[in-house]
Amino acid sequence: MTSISPRQQKIMQVLAESGAVDAEKIQQALGISQATAYREMQALKRQGLVEKVPGGICLPPTRSPEGCLQCGKENNPRLVFTIHTQSGIRLQTCCAHCGFLSLKQPLHPESIMTADFLYGTMLNATQAWYVLHSRVAPCCAPSALAFGKEEDALSFAQAFGGQVYPYAQAQAQTQKMMLP
Ligand SMILES: [Zn+2]
Ligand SMILES: [Zn+2]
Repeated sequence: MTSISPRQQKIMQVLAESGAVDAEKIQQALGISQATAYREMQALKRQGLVEKVPGGICLPPTRSPEGCLQCGKENNPRLVFTIHTQSGIRLQTCCAHCGFLSLKQPLHPESIMTADFLYGTMLNATQAWYVLHSRVAPCCAPSALAFGKEEDALSFAQAFGGQVYPYAQAQAQTQKMMLP
């Protein structure tokens, strides 16, 4: 899938130990020039293996080099929708919107996880509450944002608009709006 050089592997090791590194640390750890350190950070970023932080790079909370299965967009760790199929494959979509649309295909999910939009904690997607069509639409439109608690979803919808649905209805609504 992705091939990374021994030097990039070393950077990933350094990163795995400390979570985030800056260019200087990479220079020191690998004994390379600043320009090379920047070039390698760029290369890793392009492959989706790391995320940029000021002056350096960090490991993304969820590694998703493939991007969204539905629309190809880069997956946002705060919105990502992760589908584990029964055959042990992990698929990711950028947000619940794309997750709902991709699940019309016979994927036979074993489990589906997504993040709480307010807290960023992982949730069982089928037990989450969703605000559809809110004014806050950080990813795809109409937006579908997940919340662990119904009351949080309701408060959010009160402030930013949109309707609150449990999983099955949120999926049905999104498919109705998007599919012919
Ligand atoms: Zn998508
Ligand atoms: Zn999206």
